[in-house]
Amino acid sequence: MGTATTQATIFWDTVDTVLVDMDGTLLDLAFDNFFWLDLVPRTYAARHGLAESRAREDLMRVYRDLEGTLAWYCIDHWTERLEIDLRALKREHRHRIRYLPGALEFLAGVRSRNKRLLLVTNAHRAVLEVKIEQTGLDREVDAMISSHDFEAPKESSEFWRQLDVAVELDSERTLLVEDSISVLQAARGYGVRHTVAIRRPDTNSPAREIDEFPSVDGVHALT
Ligand SMILES: [Mg+2]
Repeated sequence: MGTATTQATIFWDTVDTVLVDMDGTLLDLAFDNFFWLDLVPRTYAARHGLAESRAREDLMRVYRDLEGTLAWYCIDHWTERLEIDLRALKREHRHRIRYLPGALEFLAGVRSRNKRLLLVTNAHRAVLEVKIEQTGLDREVDAMISSHDFEAPKESSEFWRQLDVAVELDSERTLLVEDSISVLQAARGYGVRHTVAIRRPDTNSPAREIDEFPSVDGVHALT
């Protein structure tokens, strides 16, 4: 247990709008990790006649180059680059998409407090569709915003500027719950006052230590 870890506490009367991330915050990142780190390399190897280890090495290099950019989150970019029908592949394996423990209860709790609840995600609209079909997540929030609509990833200040215009954020009274540290940094840089980091976005992996932001293992700890 790290001594610097700060367990997050939300003072609900200081918050009007809750921005909540999807993958790794509400939905188990185990699906995305399985998809990108296991299934895609296997499919890529088969498609291009490569050894799996070689395909995995190649892909990890490409992933690293694009991390945090909008192209990284664009399924069409990857479909073209890897010559794999990723939309079909995602649909085929969509039964693996699931909520993190306590996620639905957390969302219901936010709504019962009459807070505005917006999902903000870097997921491409096409991927968002698959996740909605599988989980019914659209019914649990007031609106869903994809960074692709703004052509700027959540890691950028441009995203926060455009989000502010689109939904009229009172950043002093806004809370972001999110598993990506670089997204939390961008939000804080823009002036979002309240931030909570998720320590355990993937139920197949142990919790991470986070000392830069108040954090919880998962949203179940915030209800
Ligand atoms: Mg996330």
